[in-house]
Amino acid sequence: MNNFKNLRGTVDLLPDQLIKWQNVEKIIVEQLLRSSVKEIRTPILEMTELFLRGIGEGTDVVSKEMYTFLDRGDRSCSLRPEGTASVARALIQNGISTKPFQKLWYMGPMFRYERPQAGRQRQFHQLGVEFVGYESFRSDVEIITLAWDILEKLGIKELNLEINTLGDNTDRSNFQKAFLKWLEVNKNSLDLDSQKRIEKNPLRILDTKNVQTKKILEDAPRLVDFLSDKSLKRYLNIKEQLKLLKIPYVENFHLVRGLDYYTHTAFEITSGSLGSQATVCGGGRYDNLISLMGGTETPAIGFAIGLERLIILSGNKLGESRETDIYIVNKGIHAEKLAMDLSRKLRNYDLIAELDLSGASFSKQFKKANKLKSKSIIVIGDDEAFKNQFIIRLFNNDNSENKEETISIEDNIKLEKWVKSNLLLHKNL
Ligand code: ATP
Ligand code: MG
Repeated sequence: MNNFKNLRGTVDLLPDQLIKWQNVEKIIVEQLLRSSVKEIRTPILEMTELFLRGIGEGTDVVSKEMYTFLDRGDRSCSLRPEGTASVARALIQNGISTKPFQKLWYMGPMFRYERPQAGRQRQFHQLGVEFVGYESFRSDVEIITLAWDILEKLGIKELNLEINTLGDNTDRSNFQKAFLKWLEVNKNSLDLDSQKRIEKNPLRILDTKNVQTKKILEDAPRLVDFLSDKSLKRYLNIKEQLKLLKIPYVENFHLVRGLDYYTHTAFEITSGSLGSQATVCGGGRYDNLISLMGGTETPAIGFAIGLERLIILSGNKLGESRETDIYIVNKGIHAEKLAMDLSRKLRNYDLIAELDLSGASFSKQFKKANKLKSKSIIVIGDDEAFKNQFIIRLFNNDNSENKEETISIEDNIKLEKWVKSNLLLHKNL
């Protein structure tokens, strides 16, 4: 026998774990709805070319981490490593990329061939939000606020928001000239990885994790000093508005997104309690992406939140499932038939009604109800079934019996009354 195992860096999410996932997703989706953000779903599989163009061949994600293969028709396909390129493609392809003011979200699996560790997988999940057709600084603030509020709604503490600006194309190329000069002088003091980036993607050097290089970079020219008056004003406006909203931030001039299509705002939200994979949310403005991908020039800004890290951060309370409202204990040929009908009726009241299908003894079924901490039980044996009745019992929190009533199977009014006065009031969701 072959013992199959999942691929490295992928995980099975089991029913007990999924309770937390579902609760977290529910809170997120509700908050997105309140903010008028609409869902978009794109394929997990795309032409490789899309990511080469939309993320960039020089990036680690594309050059080292992508799952790429030829399909049976010899087309090069890739599993999506992120969501923005696909959303941009879908908008352009469907002729709606120029529609102003679109707020979109997506959620789903992403794939990157990375070294798996806590908070880092090869198949992981992201929630992404993209505001397309939005140019004003207020949209930057709104998207940062949205990310922040989602994390707060989930009860996550110890959050740190870092912001930076990359300016517009001219600001950045002015900075790049000065930075390249500085790099020429300081090249030999940098780590090898950073040295390699000088040619390909010098901006990304700012983002290095190498401690020594970080130290040296403290003396490098700062992008913020190369901003035009207009870009600077934009940045100052964002900071002012964040202060008004009482969203605490720290400026980090080394926070960059390495690609040419990023402009102005870049931000990241980290949590001290995550350890080394601390970033839970990364976002930024990408005014040049849609035109780079063949669409009309369209300003846009977005972020992505890593759901695995979010789940780690969310409190245990969210891992608790809704309790069983009624456990239906039933035994006997007639009783079992009636019980099945009754369980359907109860579910119409939005109750969690669990029908025992074991056929085990009454005492075993009672034990199961007890173990589940069911708020009430229904008991039906053939004695009751012959009389067309069932017994319903309500329990107190400590599992002691509160009250009991006998109800006729046909007496929907009495059942409904009982349910409304005893169970719906207890409901926690
Ligand atoms: P990191 O620096 O952690 O590799 P990144 O810059 O590659 O992050 P983004 O591409 O901005 O990350 O993705 C946004 C978020 O998605 C990250 O902040 C993180 O929470 C999550 N994420 C990215 N890669 C992974 C992964 N391999 N496993 C789990 N979560 C991930
Ligand atoms: Mg990464």
